[in-house]
Amino acid sequence: MGAGLSGIGMGIALRRAGIEDFVILERADDIGGTWRDNTYPGVGVDIPVQGYQFSFELNPRWSRLYANGAEVKAYVDHLTDRYGLRAHVRLHTEVVERVWDQSAQVWCLRLGGAGNHFGSEVTARFVVSAIGLFVDPKPVDLPGAAGFAGTILHSARWDRTCDLSGKRVAVVGTGASAVQLVPHIARQASRLEVYQRTPIWVTPKLDLPTPRTLMWLFQRMPRVQAAVRVAAARSVEVLLIDILVNHRRAPFIVHGMERLTRALWYRWQVRDPDTRDRLTPRYGLGCKRAALSNTYLRAFNRPNVELVTDAIERITPGGLRTVDGRERQVDVIVLATGFRTASDPENFRRTPVRGRDGFDLATHYTEHRLHSYEGISIPGLPNHFMMYGPYGWVGGAWHQMVETSSAHIVRVITEARRRGATTVEVRREPTARWTRQMRRRLETSLWATRRCATANSFYYDHHGDVAYVRPTSSRQARRASRTFPLDDYVYTT
Ligand SMILES: Cc1cc2nc3c(=O)[nH]c(=O)nc-3n(C[C@H](O)[C@H](O)[C@H](O)COP(=O)(O)OP(=O)(O)OC[C@H]3O[C@@H](n4cnc5c(N)ncnc54)[C@H](O)[C@@H]3O)c2cc1C
Repeated sequence: MGAGLSGIGMGIALRRAGIEDFVILERADDIGGTWRDNTYPGVGVDIPVQGYQFSFELNPRWSRLYANGAEVKAYVDHLTDRYGLRAHVRLHTEVVERVWDQSAQVWCLRLGGAGNHFGSEVTARFVVSAIGLFVDPKPVDLPGAAGFAGTILHSARWDRTCDLSGKRVAVVGTGASAVQLVPHIARQASRLEVYQRTPIWVTPKLDLPTPRTLMWLFQRMPRVQAAVRVAAARSVEVLLIDILVNHRRAPFIVHGMERLTRALWYRWQVRDPDTRDRLTPRYGLGCKRAALSNTYLRAFNRPNVELVTDAIERITPGGLRTVDGRERQVDVIVLATGFRTASDPENFRRTPVRGRDGFDLATHYTEHRLHSYEGISIPGLPNHFMMYGPYGWVGGAWHQMVETSSAHIVRVITEARRRGATTVEVRREPTARWTRQMRRRLETSLWATRRCATANSFYYDHHGDVAYVRPTSSRQARRASRTFPLDDYVYTT
């Protein structure tokens, strides 16, 4: 399910294992996932792109250190063609319900989407859910939206025909997408108001175009690029795992970085002390994913840009009214308000997942703290795998998760075939053990400290757990994907 980087990466792993009897069901009219949907001005990766690619398919021609979204979309297109996956992809095919049929030992997938290839249902022996981390844009929760006379855009559903030149624009939200798009809108709009609930830490972005000689070198000597990929991915891991997960070992590192960012970077970037103060987070650096930008904070120095920190009361026909009673007139409202993330039960109320013996994923996620085996499998869902389940993000660069998860899944499916098994389900005990280990590791993390109390971060789920990242090294995750005991699953014939 899903033809983003995860679904395409899974397809590649299946083909490499000689498994050809599969389809990739995609609800949209194109492949690419995140990089198809996010086309707002300034969209791009927020980790060095050399680390944001598969180890087996290096692109020697990334134009810069932080590539833009269109380049990543082109990379997904390239992967799909190069590994012969187009024939496996079925577009316009949304899986609206997954039901495990215990007697036939198959999944019945109920389908939606006009023009889908299969009609209303398809059955599958195995299902891999590759629906991503950011599953759907959060719906507008502001009253009055329906009566707004102007245009409402969401950052993840950008309308490129909407020209913002000379318009009065409001951006709602100050997360990673807003940091990328605000500087662009500030240059075009006659007025821009940025509505902030929780400020985001913004640190310098050391971005550079890739010199032609380096592209040439990467083409001639892929091993050099392979080493650069490892170093780039490792740089993300050092921050996310070594410094933030193992925070208690050396808390001064992140505290020092935070002090420097506040004292030097924020002071240098934002002229007005009051605006600077309001843009400065009160929670610790690292409590939620920091953004990188050399232009976001500076945008607030412009005379046409205003930071609004009073809460929005409602959308009016002409603009936005804040709780202090003030109304600002705008032509366009841009919602950069984030996403429903992978374990949000709401996703599975809309598209239910019903496993063995009455197991329902939405109820499970609502009533129980998140758990999984290796971030991939959950007891109660036989023959079902998640590419990105609880505690599943390996090392902070998505492709590492895709490579380790797909290796794990292929191992289980291959073993099931070898044993002639029709059902495979992860056992409860190894799941509980693995989850306990992950939670224990996170006890020493920055996220377990009071410094994160006001971060309002999507890292924390609705139970207050940080089940978002796998708190081990990527090397450990790779090794585990090759060596986990196959008998941690039950195989039934
Ligand atoms: C603006 C932005 C920047 C990012 N930058 C980075 C970065 O720098 N580094 C990083 O590691 N990560 C980054 N991410 C996270 C990014 O989402 C992942 O890196 C990666 O692209 C996710 O790929 P995916 O295939 O798992 O999910 P997605 O790209 O979300 O693809 C999921 C696919 O599943 C389809 N789908 C969903 N539900 C169904 C259904 N019921 N039936 C059929 N199809 C369905 C969707 O239409 C979609 O095509 C960024 C995310 C955003 C939004």
